[in-house]
Amino acid sequence: MAVPMKFLAEELETMKQSGLYGTIRTLEGPQGAWVVIGGKKYLNLCSNNYLGLCNDPRVVSKVKDYVDRYGVGPGAVRTIAGTMTPHIELEKKLAAFKGAEAAIVLQSGFCANLAVIPTLASSADDLIFSDSLNHASIIDACRLSKAKVVRYEHSDMADLEKKLQENEAPGGKKLLITDGVFSMDGDVAKLPAIVRLCERHNVIVAVDDAHGEGVLGKGGRGIVDHFDLHGKVDVEIGTMSKAFGVMGGMVAGSAILVDYLRQKARTNLFSSALTIPDVAANLAAVEILQESDDLVNRLWHNGDTLKRDLKAAGFDTGNSETPITPVIIGEAQAAKDFSAKLFERGVFATAIVFPTVPRGTARIRAMVSAAHKDSDLQFAVEQFVAVGREMGIIR
Ligand SMILES: *Cc1c(COP(=O)(O)O)cnc(C)c1O
Repeated sequence: MAVPMKFLAEELETMKQSGLYGTIRTLEGPQGAWVVIGGKKYLNLCSNNYLGLCNDPRVVSKVKDYVDRYGVGPGAVRTIAGTMTPHIELEKKLAAFKGAEAAIVLQSGFCANLAVIPTLASSADDLIFSDSLNHASIIDACRLSKAKVVRYEHSDMADLEKKLQENEAPGGKKLLITDGVFSMDGDVAKLPAIVRLCERHNVIVAVDDAHGEGVLGKGGRGIVDHFDLHGKVDVEIGTMSKAFGVMGGMVAGSAILVDYLRQKARTNLFSSALTIPDVAANLAAVEILQESDDLVNRLWHNGDTLKRDLKAAGFDTGNSETPITPVIIGEAQAAKDFSAKLFERGVFATAIVFPTVPRGTARIRAMVSAAHKDSDLQFAVEQFVAVGREMGIIR
């Protein structure tokens, strides 16, 4: 390889030696409770397909219908020629579902954070208060803003209050951004306290509800509904690539906020619109959620069952308050070995290591979905227990 490119191979080798090089598996069939990898079936415990909608026949048939009527590609960014009837239909449905005045759809949750954060906090006088465990897309969006970023300790309201007081001096705009559900631990942001503090200090509140959408609140309406904070959270950011089982991001809030983002957000202005298959599938997902909360209830039942049984077996499942079930192992290599042994036993659950989680807290993050049966969960627990004993992690 050319000399200037040599660092690539060197860094990859370092990653391999420290257990940070990830194995990327290929699914040979649909995303579901069980998946096919290398021609074999595995119990799937690591997708974000919370409600099992990735392959739902109602979703698939809506996609076929819309593709027949509208084709596939939007052909442009939203602001030039890429806004089509289905985009508007989806935005109206999402706003109604979330109980917000309006919503805008973006290409992904990542793009939604890029749409909100640098757009609302854009100048060097502005301040962003950010939870120390916020998602990478929030961190990158903060980097794209010229604002000063003030990190507060994870969910530590005393530290947040201190940081708000230290930065009391009037300057530019102030924005607080937090994950709603912290994706690697499954704990929920203390949103009522955050809202109270931000009201007192005149700070805009934005929550990224990627793992709360379709999971928390009435019928999966999200964290704002969960805490009954309608009208008190200025910006709700969400993704449709998790519980909705598709792809796409959204921002819900006031009509003025959405109008502003449509005109100013760079991911809306300079990246093409979401495709018709995505939009149609998302429409079907919202309709399913609006009709019934069965899937959401089933998801919670499954999450509670798995957590209870793994904890009873002696595993450290952290402080999750949601169906996300972390099984903390410690060192990256041990977590990788654990995952490999589970895989040999027919369970697909990837290890999550640094930089996704802090060093020393590598884990298997078990993700259940509404599509899992009780017998699937029982099978999972049996394999976790067998590997845990073999590796001396539990007795
Ligand atoms: C997954 C996730 C995202 C990214 O969503 P995509 O739609 O996959 O781009 C953003 N924020 C948080 C908190 C997430 O967990």
